[in-house]
Formats: sequence, structure tokens, C-alpha cells
Amino acid sequence: MRFSIAIAFVGGMWFAAPVPMAEAAPCLMVTLTGTQSGPSVFNGQAGAGTLVRYGDDSNDCAAMKLQFDAGRGTNMRLSQIDVTPVQLNAIFFTHMHGDHTEGFADIMMLRWYFKGPKIDIVCSSDATSVLGVTNSCRKYVTHIADAFLQSGEIAERRSEDNARLAGGPVDLTNVITFDPKDEPQVVWSSGDVKVSAIRSTHTAGHASYRVDTPAGSVVIGGDAGNDVLAPPRASSTSDQVEKLAKGVDIIVHSAFHPVLGPDRGSGFPPLSYYRQSLASDLGAMAKRVGAKHLMLTHLGPSLGAVIHNRWKVPGGPLTQADYRKAVEAGGFTGNTIVGTDLATLRLPAK
Ligand SMILES: [Zn+2]
Repeated sequence: MRFSIAIAFVGGMWFAAPVPMAEAAPCLMVTLTGTQSGPSVFNGQAGAGTLVRYGDDSNDCAAMKLQFDAGRGTNMRLSQIDVTPVQLNAIFFTHMHGDHTEGFADIMMLRWYFKGPKIDIVCSSDATSVLGVTNSCRKYVTHIADAFLQSGEIAERRSEDNARLAGGPVDLTNVITFDPKDEPQVVWSSGDVKVSAIRSTHTAGHASYRVDTPAGSVVIGGDAGNDVLAPPRASSTSDQVEKLAKGVDIIVHSAFHPVLGPDRGSGFPPLSYYRQSLASDLGAMAKRVGAKHLMLTHLGPSLGAVIHNRWKVPGGPLTQADYRKAVEAGGFTGNTIVGTDLATLRLPAK
């Protein structure tokens, strides 16, 4: 039971008295801020990202706002649900592919323009691929507004208001890096909210996340695929994500449809296809871990697309029903959401 202070005017005097009131019920909201798969643009879809909001009924589940990935147009989508960059408590990256990161500069420039506050940026430490290429989230964040420093934009706006930090957006960032492991590790927490990460296969340094709150839990798989990079293998999904997702309420995951497989002749590169999880295998994984909700995002191919990226979709454009059918083929009988921008799930349901 909580107490609030009631002020009463009684008998010519003001009295303040504690009054018992019901505890506001905790709630969790998961919103897809972008569902585009890969570098292409299609029909105004924003790049990959997921907003996780947590709070209670008294603040409409919005006491805490965590953004996972920030693809192209993330800021525009956030504006449609009245979330400004200043309100975000932390930003997490699954990996450094542009379709998951392009919207970050936009978010940070506006946060800087609005004068902060500082924000935690959580991602994996530098990781080098088998081909010797290093992915560096830290460098990415450090240099996020270099073009605006070089153009004079940062200096000019600061000359109008010197409360803005001289170094630009990077001065607002607190970069927290971790080494993704095969077991979940807590990488960020605040109050009731805990965020864990696990290593997963896609690019070097790829990580998947899980958010646990008193209102429920959500796994954000990112573009995770199986450690075995091509068939024969038991599943296209990640064993590590499956470990992370045990007993979780919601799984948000990039999903490909089998129609883009090499056997269907679209010409879509097998490497790109095999390093993603198939909708059917995600259905099977969601069933195995006992998830209640599966939110497919980053759909390959996009819903309604005749051409995905630059490859013709065999058999014509896909519908939500096609993805749902694939998930059901995997055996999942829970709630499946075939992602469109701003699709939202609330726990508990209202
Ligand atoms: Zn991607």
C-alpha cells in the first residue's frame, strides 16, 4: 500500500494527512520503431528499432524508455508516439550494420540541441570478424556528429546558446561496452529494470538483449542467426538467444520468410539469407521457450514488396498471413504480431 498526502481544510485550518491508495499497477510497452530489413528503402518504412517503455498506470507505462537499435527514421517514429530524444534513458545496439544505426545521429543531434541530459549507450566492445574487419561501436558513437562539427553547425548553434556542449552530441554520451558471452550477463540496470545480453551470430560483436521488469519481460534478438552458418543444421535460430529467451513473455526478432531461400531462385545472397532467422524456426523457438508473444520485425521480404532490396520475390508479394503461416508451421500457438512500424504490445493487456 502506498500513501499520498491529502490536504484538507477543516474547521478553519489546513490539515495534511496520509491517505492509503492502491499501488499503481506496473506495465510494459514494446513498440517497433522500424521494421525495414537491410539497407534498402521501401514504402516509408523506418529502419530497425524497438522502444521498450516501463512504468505504471499512473504514467502510462512511460517512466523509463529504452531504445534498442536506431535505424533510419527512428526519431520520426518516436515523434509519432510523443517520445522525444531527451526522454530516452539508454540506447542499446545489437550490431553496427547501418540499417540498425543510421537514425542515431538524428536522435543525438536533437538531444544535444535540446541540451541533454547525458545518456547511456550500451553495446559490445570492439570485435574483429574472420575477414579481419573490426566493428567498433565506441568509435561509431565517438564520431557520430563529426560531419556537424566539421560543417560549423555545432559551433554556430553553440554561439547562440553556450549551454550546449562544445564537443557536440558525443559529450552527451556515456558509452558502456561489454564482451558478449555465451551466457546472459547483466549489462545495464535501473531500479526495477534489468537488461541482460548474450553473444549471437550475425556480424562480429552482435548481441541480443533481454529486458526484465515486474510487468513482464522481452527479448530483442536483433538479426541473430545460428552459429552453424548454413544447412545442414537443426535451426536457423540462435541457441544463445534461445537460452536468453527461456520463459520470456515477448520475443522481438528479425525474420526472414523461406521464400527468399536459395532453393526458390530469387537470387537473394545465400550468405545474407542464412545469417538470419526464419519465421518458421522462430515459431518453433518461441514454442520451446514458452514465450507468449512473438513480434516479427525486419521482415525479409517486406510486406507487399514485389522486389526485396533488388531481388524479385518469388511467387509475388507476401502478406501478414504468409508470415503467420510460417510461424504456425513452426508450432507456435501464442500471439504472433507480424511487424509494421509502430506495432505495439502492452503487458498486461489493457
Ligand atoms: Zn539488419
